[in-house]
Amino acid sequence: MRKKINIAIDGYSSCGKSTLAKALSKELNYVYIDTGAMYRAVTLHALRNNIIRNDQLLEDKLDTVLDTLYITFKYNTDTRQTETYLNGKNVEKEIRSMQVSGHVSKIASQLNVRKKLVRLQQRMAESRGVVMDGRDIGTVVLPDADIKFFMTAEPKIRAQRRFEELRANGTDVTFEEVFENVNKRDTIDSTRDHDPLRQAEDAIVVDNSHLTIDEQFTFIIGQINKVIEAPISAQN
Ligand code: C5P
Repeated sequence: MRKKINIAIDGYSSCGKSTLAKALSKELNYVYIDTGAMYRAVTLHALRNNIIRNDQLLEDKLDTVLDTLYITFKYNTDTRQTETYLNGKNVEKEIRSMQVSGHVSKIASQLNVRKKLVRLQQRMAESRGVVMDGRDIGTVVLPDADIKFFMTAEPKIRAQRRFEELRANGTDVTFEEVFENVNKRDTIDSTRDHDPLRQAEDAIVVDNSHLTIDEQFTFIIGQINKVIEAPISAQN
């Protein structure tokens, strides 16, 4: 039997981390954990409960609702996707809205939110065989992951890809709005005090500005297979 490993994927907003992570989890029959979806679910909860009002975050109220909030993932056999549930309700569509995208980085910069979600993510990866994507996976959540990737692409290319994805889903949005949101999230994510987005020293950097999805997949699965097939004694 092939050994099971944990795979960490970090990088900037909208550079195809989740597309790659989903394809890898299918190929390897691993569990995919979209940590961005978890921060998005907390943000949706905060918006619904008026904890974000007129763009202001009521931090003390956020702490009180954090204890009553639970996030789970369930595989949908019809869509063949893993979907996000907030307190038992499917929120997969709502968490992708521009309103949630506009507030998520502020929520993700809160220490208590990070503490809660990081603990949950570490528990999800305990039995191994996990592909996890986010901003702090290789540095904070799974510093001992067997292989780490750090993805990047030119900002305009990333915004264009995200814009096309949103338009295809029927979202009424302009390219400028998407470009601004992607840049703003990258700035907040990279400069926050707690667990900022940064490349782990042992991560393999992949700039996919000019790579097709297939080219990227072929390169990455090749790197992963080397780790899976390496004799145990050859590791570390
Ligand atoms: O991956 P996605 O773009 O959906 O993530 C949404 C936001 O969640 C990011 O912009 C970031 O603010 C936050 N995030 C984070 N740490 C992670 C994953 C996401 O801070 N591990």
